[in-house]
Amino acid sequence: MNDPRPPHVTSSDFLQEYGHYIDGDWCEGASGTTIDLRNPATGAVLSRIAAGNAADARRAVDAAARAFPTWSKTPPAKRQEILYEIVRRLKARLPHFAMMDTLNNGKPINEATHFDMPMAIEQFAIFSGTPWQLHGESIQAANTVGIVHREPLGVVVQIIPWNVPMIMLATKIAPALAAGNTIVLKPSEIVCLSVMEFMREMADLLPPGVLNIVTGYGPDLGETLVTDPRVRKVGFTGSRPTARRLMQYASVNIIPQTMELGGKSANIVCEDADLDAAAEGAAMSTVLNKGEVCLAGSRLFVHEKVKDVFMEKLQRLLSNIRIGDPTSTDTQLGAQASQMQMDKITGYLELGPQEGAKVVLGGQRAQVPGLEKGLFIQPTIFDQVDNSMRIAQEEIFGPVVSVISWKNDDEVIRLANDSIYGLGGGIWTSNVSRAHRMACALETGTIWINRFYNFLGGMPIGGYKQSGFGREFAHEVLDHYTLTKSVIINLEPGPMGVFGQP
Ligand code: NAD
Repeated sequence: MNDPRPPHVTSSDFLQEYGHYIDGDWCEGASGTTIDLRNPATGAVLSRIAAGNAADARRAVDAAARAFPTWSKTPPAKRQEILYEIVRRLKARLPHFAMMDTLNNGKPINEATHFDMPMAIEQFAIFSGTPWQLHGESIQAANTVGIVHREPLGVVVQIIPWNVPMIMLATKIAPALAAGNTIVLKPSEIVCLSVMEFMREMADLLPPGVLNIVTGYGPDLGETLVTDPRVRKVGFTGSRPTARRLMQYASVNIIPQTMELGGKSANIVCEDADLDAAAEGAAMSTVLNKGEVCLAGSRLFVHEKVKDVFMEKLQRLLSNIRIGDPTSTDTQLGAQASQMQMDKITGYLELGPQEGAKVVLGGQRAQVPGLEKGLFIQPTIFDQVDNSMRIAQEEIFGPVVSVISWKNDDEVIRLANDSIYGLGGGIWTSNVSRAHRMACALETGTIWINRFYNFLGGMPIGGYKQSGFGREFAHEVLDHYTLTKSVIINLEPGPMGVFGQP
């Protein structure tokens, strides 16, 4: 049986204020101003971070640039040892880090413990092995040997959002460090308590300047960071408007980018599916991390022949979800991460009926006794949705699912692909050929068949269309964090004789 008591956390488990972490030291921001980190379940201020500015950004890039020559030449065994020690420490203090994300983001502690943290740890474990695989290759021909060196890029800027901070931190920094780059990381100004605690815990492992963290509002830091001529890449996860801005900045010095953006993933239930499994997957996809997941199957396509039976199952599951204190192991749906996010979701809850959708469950703010200031939303099902409605086209990022009926495979593929996004997706059917035919036709980066959110360590994740470009979570990320250099050696003595004999 689950123990519903919250794990014991006191305010001494984290700091009341964090500066930037630059060049191996914590330092105050140049502006002297700070930003509050809040607990969205209570409204309480948990801690404060520095509101960084251009001077802080430059200082962080200075440190990363100074550290690069030495770090890039660190033997693979050393980098492996460090990454594996991170795995060990994260495992040893897993409840602490899980609780930091729960307090600041509002996600249920069960999810932080059993989903976010294992996935973050897995990234460090996977990439701890990769420093050995960056040895390039050689090609031989008559009288010529070619050696392909693989080199780190240099200083990389990485910018992450607030929804799954530990997973984002791990997917960004693990491959970049493994490949020998130095980093300036900018976490979200809304949720980053776990990221700051990570830096406190790991500070002694990394030489000064290898990993620097500057905090603050994106627009105060982004341009200085990304247009600095010493910066060789920007890796970003977040929204499309920010991506556009960063791509403009990146165009100044023509540096590569990885963009992991939003989604409006199609979750397709066929008439021959195991409907209990499909309803469970759809319900989980709606409420996991309060729906604040870029891969969420928020467009649910249900075959008309099984619609009534399926909807009854889905409604039953979602109406029994336990909404409550995120720190309780009994809770299944926590608090939305910020007031801004709350306002955005409630805006869509009002919009759905105006567009002609029918609210068959939820549709309101949820009240949790004792947590009256908490940002809670009821699991919500919009039925009779048309794919052209805004609730079917725009990312809501809340526990809200839009249900669309369909009749035949060609139609559902056309509708699923009728989106600016292409990040995730699901197919539920007992016919594996049909599932694979559909998977091939869908314009999306990840497709789960007969189980949603079935993450498999080492599989790439990334977008089609406006969900972005570049992949993460997999070995191919190393290609995004290295350059190849071709060195071609002539083995034949003397001149070629192009201009006649000397
Ligand atoms: P956001 O774009 O507002 O912010 C993301 C980060 O960018 C934050 O750290 C923010 O401070 C920073 N930022 C904002 N403006 C900036 C600027 N001008 N220069 C530099 N940095 C700037 O996005 P968000 O609201 O924090 O995150 C939610 C979005 O992230 C959703 O669209 C979601 O789908 C997406 N997301 C995608 C993935 C994925 O893997 N594809 C994962 C998680 C979240």
